[in-house]
Amino acid sequence: MTKGLLSVFTGDGKGKTTAALGLTFRALGHGKKVCFIQFIKGGWTSGEAKLANNFPGLLDFHVMGKGFTWKSEDLEKDRQAAREAWAFATRMIKESTYDMIVLDELTYLIRYAMISEEEILGVFSRKPEALHLVITGRYASPGLLQAADLVTEMKAVKHPFASGIKAQKGFEY
Ligand code: ATP
Ligand code: MG
Repeated sequence: MTKGLLSVFTGDGKGKTTAALGLTFRALGHGKKVCFIQFIKGGWTSGEAKLANNFPGLLDFHVMGKGFTWKSEDLEKDRQAAREAWAFATRMIKESTYDMIVLDELTYLIRYAMISEEEILGVFSRKPEALHLVITGRYASPGLLQAADLVTEMKAVKHPFASGIKAQKGFEY
């Protein structure tokens, strides 16, 4: 039987979300069912969201509400959005209809004290045995790192942003 892994991609370098997408692509190729949940909605619609929408049935892709941001004026509203997003993710984990669930940018929920690490780890510890969970985001908390089976830290060595090259469609998003 499959040993479902808890994987974490963290660090300040580029490649966390795209690593999760790579695993998604690989799993789908083997006919596995994958659910990809994005906790932060950026300003642009990503290529991955478009692909999922253009090929219904390929991948269950969810961008949660308006997400939340640390720039927000209405923190209470953000907290509510985060709670709803987490409730949805919890349901998907418990239902066990998927082989892999990606929680993209989940680490910020803990970082900005939207959901406690304890609550999140509690849900993870009760996940279906065969389910692979993939977490991405900067500032992964110590408890999450400890609970994980796999941790990779992306290290920023060089990024085009530093030379003034702005985010490009099809590469950054
Ligand atoms: P990607 O989605 O390309 O795999 P990521 O998930 O590792 O990147 P995030 O921390 O989620 O990166 O940041 C989101 C955006 O910031 C992406 O457009 C990414 O390309 C960009 N980014 C990532 N690392 C850096 C960096 N060191 N400097 C500037 N921008 C960055
Ligand atoms: Mg990312």
